Amino acid sequence: MAIKAIFFDMDETLIGTSLATNVAYQHTKEHLHEKNTSSLMMCTLYKHADKLIETFSHSLNSIKNEEYKLQSPRDIRIKLWDSAIKRVLIENNATISFDESLKSAEDLYKIWHDTRLNNLKMLEPTSLEVLCKLRKHYKLLLLTNGSSVVQWEKIKTLNFEKYFDYVLVSGDEPYDKPHPSIFQKACSICHCLPDECTMVGDTIETDIKGANDAKLAMSIYYERDCNKIEVDHYDDPSCIPSHRINSISDLLKIFMSKPNIEVRASETITC
Ligand SMILES: [Mg+2]
Repeated sequence: MAIKAIFFDMDETLIGTSLATNVAYQHTKEHLHEKNTSSLMMCTLYKHADKLIETFSHSLNSIKNEEYKLQSPRDIRIKLWDSAIKRVLIENNATISFDESLKSAEDLYKIWHDTRLNNLKMLEPTSLEVLCKLRKHYKLLLLTNGSSVVQWEKIKTLNFEKYFDYVLVSGDEPYDKPHPSIFQKACSICHCLPDECTMVGDTIETDIKGANDAKLAMSIYYERDCNKIEVDHYDDPSCIPSHRINSISDLLKIFMSKPNIEVRASETITC
């Protein structure tokens, strides 16, 4: 059956979220350096900035998406900075002022959050052009895992709604990828059958397994040096992608080289 819709993962497929996060940690460290002499507490935090950032980062990565449904990402993340600050102070036998710790946690959160958002960029500069070319022939749907607030903030910042026909954030749904239900919902939003849809993503366990379990026509693995896997690394056949690409522009070879490719009505396309 002919492909009618292409689903795209967002983080580390289209945008360099981890690069932006690393820049944000660097700025946080610079802020600690600037505040180094403002109090004994800030001096201790600056001296142990790497440990502070590592503690926050580790806790952040352990947060489950369900927790973001109970509390705002902002509140959760301020608490994580606050806990990381207190932990560093306790480990270094420093005096803790609860007010000062909370105030610093709010400051660190703001610097980290704003820097991260302001540094979100396309991983490949030509990806938006590729999306526009594909969209003339295929429905495009952005299918991303994560908290609704956090993911929508990124989507709005990158103006992604302009490039996709539909956006589906797992935080707004009962299940994350790889659960088949979110792929089935994506198919139904596009008015397509699973075997008319394709998934493109950088994560085997969510994007590829999910697409294969939901019986999509193709699962395309975006393979970069940092996530390269051997095919036989996975025993589960549903973890094997049907195609591998090294660049988003490789999709043009897969999807645009067919003869008599159908053109969509132009009024539905905004980019
Ligand atoms: Mg990803």
